[in-house]
Amino acid sequence: MQENKTPDKLLVSREYRAEDTVITVGEASAAVQIGGDRFVIIAGPCTVESQEMVCRIGEAVKKAGAMVLRGGAFKPRTSPYSFQGKEEEGLQWLLEAKNLTGLPVVSEITSISQLPLFAEVDIIQVGSRNMQNYELLKALGKTDKPVLLKRGVSASLPDFLLSAEYIVAGGNPNVILCERGIRTFERETRNTPDIAAIPLLRQMTHLPVISDPSHATGLSELVAPLALAATAAGANGIMIEVHDHPAAALCDGRQSITPSEFALLTEKISNIRKIVQ
Ligand code: PEP
Ligand code: MN
Repeated sequence: MQENKTPDKLLVSREYRAEDTVITVGEASAAVQIGGDRFVIIAGPCTVESQEMVCRIGEAVKKAGAMVLRGGAFKPRTSPYSFQGKEEEGLQWLLEAKNLTGLPVVSEITSISQLPLFAEVDIIQVGSRNMQNYELLKALGKTDKPVLLKRGVSASLPDFLLSAEYIVAGGNPNVILCERGIRTFERETRNTPDIAAIPLLRQMTHLPVISDPSHATGLSELVAPLALAATAAGANGIMIEVHDHPAAALCDGRQSITPSEFALLTEKISNIRKIVQ
């Protein structure tokens, strides 16, 4: 087995690189920068349900200030009996929404074998459950695609950063970290949002740090307050699940906010940004 020497400073650490990493996503005409002084707003449905649905929600979130459209096609569900996503067809529908709206798109990969399907996806998401899928991280390290890496439910911040290090050490510096809540004894929320992780990660790493209050709380009424808290705490952006009929959503309806609630939130975020910037 090959062993690599641990460097004195991790490549993802602030000690290694003092300046913030800024990642450009999307084609030149519609490029979005993530990191540094920029604040990225990513929104869209938990899962792509149909082409019509992802295009409709894509247009709505764009109008309300989203800069990147999210939509899961391969869904890592806790139960094997839950809806597993529209898979390859779902990714095609998301790419149709990309063409229609001009927004770059992010979608989750759950297996290395899916990599060729993601050629036109602008940001590849590694979900919480795969944060420690080291073979997947190594494969993504060999690409130059921006990767949105979500924190594992029981990952410490050093664990989280070491997972990012796998991708960066493999040759891909384009990693965005996403805090999405951790598992604690509290059961009133789906996970426990770790707001302290945001300023801590900003100190520990030069990589962009965004927050996902949808999965962190699991409750639509908590999404806006937690998104504002993450903004005030210095996040480089947020990712929000938006659905126009949350009660009918195939996945995560209880934590999805509507396009009009999302529009109100983006306005409040820009006000918070004016104070903390
Ligand atoms: C998601 O963003 O769709 C998702 C499954 O999130 P997480 O990996 O944080 O559970
Ligand atoms: Mn979801």
